[in-house]
Amino acid sequence: MSDFGGSVKSSGDYEFAILGVPFDEKSSFLRGAASGPSAVRMASTGAAINPWTELGVNLAEETTVADLGDIDVSEGFPPAFQRITEGVAGILKKKAFPVIIGGDHSISYPVVRALSQFYKPLDILHFDAHPDLYEEYEGDRFSHACPFARILEEGLVDNLVQVGIRAAVGANRALAEKYGSTMIEMKDMDKIPKLGFLNPLYVSVDIDVLDPAFAPGVSHHEPGGLSTRELIHVIHGLSARIIGMDLVEVNGERDASGITAAAGVKIIMEVMGKAVFSRRKKEES
Ligand code: MN
Ligand code: MN
Repeated sequence: MSDFGGSVKSSGDYEFAILGVPFDEKSSFLRGAASGPSAVRMASTGAAINPWTELGVNLAEETTVADLGDIDVSEGFPPAFQRITEGVAGILKKKAFPVIIGGDHSISYPVVRALSQFYKPLDILHFDAHPDLYEEYEGDRFSHACPFARILEEGLVDNLVQVGIRAAVGANRALAEKYGSTMIEMKDMDKIPKLGFLNPLYVSVDIDVLDPAFAPGVSHHEPGGLSTRELIHVIHGLSARIIGMDLVEVNGERDASGITAAAGVKIIMEVMGKAVFSRRKKEES
């Protein structure tokens, strides 16, 4: 089980629900992202972490976090996708905030299918080195290179903003243009973007958005990325009501130092803290 500085409680109601998806069948290059949930949970435990986030939120006191364990993906695709959608819908029925730990990025599509049943319109902020906007990849429309193409074509998102991109091909840009989504590429990021969203916001973090210097435990090393600090600045600067998140593509088999999983823990805590901080500000006003 996860801990996150003592913020995860084993019983009672919860505002945040952690759900692992140990699935990497749709990885195009290296397997290993199935180890993500266990790697992140392990990094979340121990005396090194306290429950305070940088915005001054004590996650152990100001909110409630539960760890619902892992989705059973043992039957593989396609039943695994159905289980993911059902699992996330179960969290949303309880009006809780899903914190999904992948797994490869293909899982964001069945997650967003669940979200779209509860939040319409829905906006998505997607951090990634890759736009994951292929119509199909090596003959597979459900590859981890494709989830945002599926999400766009099914109309599950109103405003999709992608940050940190540095491996787009021409067809990805054409697809983004066709659907009117926004791609903020690393080459154009001379300062930290201040982003605002009108609709409920889902945040999807492919940990390979970070430079491999900060997150070497990923299947695709793509240099020239964000620092952990820059990513956190984008999150802190958001003007949005965040209603869920995923953290995907931690490949524990390549994360010898554990620093990638540690970055994942930090990012999850800062997104949860930002959501609580925004709720608190709204209640005060
Ligand atoms: Mn991705
Ligand atoms: Mn990626």
